[in-house]
Amino acid sequence: MPYKRVSSLLETDPWGFESQDKFMNAAVMYELDLPKGYNPEAEGLMILEICKDIERRLGRTGKPQYDEKGERIYTDRPIDIDILLFGDNKIDCDELTVPHKLMYERDFVMVPLNEIIN
Ligand code: AMP
Repeated sequence: MPYKRVSSLLETDPWGFESQDKFMNAAVMYELDLPKGYNPEAEGLMILEICKDIERRLGRTGKPQYDEKGERIYTDRPIDIDILLFGDNKIDCDELTVPHKLMYERDFVMVPLNEIIN
């Protein structure tokens, strides 16, 4: 599926853990042709599955790890695809929260995102 807009690449230090490796960040916008009255949660979960499939194909293995307090443990990873926004939809279910919960506090997300939405 061709994308509509893509940001430049932003190299950053890891967020939430120490590593010698850097991260390359980018934001991509897709335009979807969805029927009127579509179900945002069902469509969002389908998009999430596509993202996870791409992650697997690019070498991402295993499930997200959490510490005893339920906080996410972050480590180096070959690829990480997040759904930041899905039109004006708000989704809050076990597997998917849109807008993405932490995006507003992460410059490495907001800088590329601002480049493509303005
Ligand atoms: P990640 O480490 O970013 O691949 O995400 C780990 C988990 O976060 C996924 O398995 C999703 O079920 C969940 N998740 C919740 N909201 C989102 C979102 N907006 N985009 C991507 N993953 C999400």
